[in-house]
Amino acid sequence: MLQHRRPALTLQARSRSLAHSSVIAMMRCRREKKRREQKSEPLGRRCAPILAPARLAPSGRDSERLAMPDTLRINEIFHSIQGESSWVGLPCVFVRLTGCHLRCAYCDTAYAFHEGQRQSIDSIIEAVVRYETSLVEITGGEPLLQHGVHDLMSRLCDLGRTVLIETSGACDISPCDPRVIRILDLKTPGSGEVDRNLWSNVEHLSERDEVKFVITDRADYEWARDILHQHDLTHRVKSVIFAGVFEQPRGLEIAGCKSLPLAELARWILEDGLPVRLQTQLHKIIWEPQTRGV
Ligand code: SF4
Repeated sequence: MLQHRRPALTLQARSRSLAHSSVIAMMRCRREKKRREQKSEPLGRRCAPILAPARLAPSGRDSERLAMPDTLRINEIFHSIQGESSWVGLPCVFVRLTGCHLRCAYCDTAYAFHEGQRQSIDSIIEAVVRYETSLVEITGGEPLLQHGVHDLMSRLCDLGRTVLIETSGACDISPCDPRVIRILDLKTPGSGEVDRNLWSNVEHLSERDEVKFVITDRADYEWARDILHQHDLTHRVKSVIFAGVFEQPRGLEIAGCKSLPLAELARWILEDGLPVRLQTQLHKIIWEPQTRGV
């Protein structure tokens, strides 16, 4: 009888021990989650993914994986008219992710540097499909800082959406689902962030993608013209966009800049016969330039 009881006691002890470990693990997860929420950690000054659930080691950081399930920090989701790129003028749903590691002088979405709430990828998709619009743009901030964005984009592609991602030239675009159309915003000197361009991105561009240069002055124009020729961008991507910058007041985290008259940029492009698309931000003409959610 004793021999029969001993294994039973051992099993009970094991279950107690396992239950105890699980409780401790759960408590650690909650503490970690609370710590992160209280600190409201800014999303990255470096271009490393904030969330990398698929790449975490199976142990050690498991608690982080549990504490940060399939969520993204979202600044806003809204339905509007696409104001830029070769998709300009079309109805589009925008998903703006929180956080950016750059501080471009002309940034018009500084409110996305820190503001935002965590949302599950399921709930983001629900919010997007509610609009029944086939075009979706993932933007920011810098959307590629949150690794879960790849899952979001692939799932939207699976649902038949045309997915655009607007990203700075500072994050690796190669992990993007090949169905996603990448709009690479190469940083001009006038942005103050030209040194952050990740030039290996140019090699990953395909003929479905687009490159955008925000031009603040003549020096930016000449720089962009040289890059265009050096990398043969016209033949590499669907569209190369030269956008004249809008005036941006100085902010707490950005330097601000004056606008570049579009007529001047048009003249330079015509004089040099550049095969690029001159563009302005249509939504800033339709609505007040500082209006959010449009
Ligand atoms: S404009 Fe520059 S600072 Fe602003 S979100 Fe884009 S990359 Fe970041």
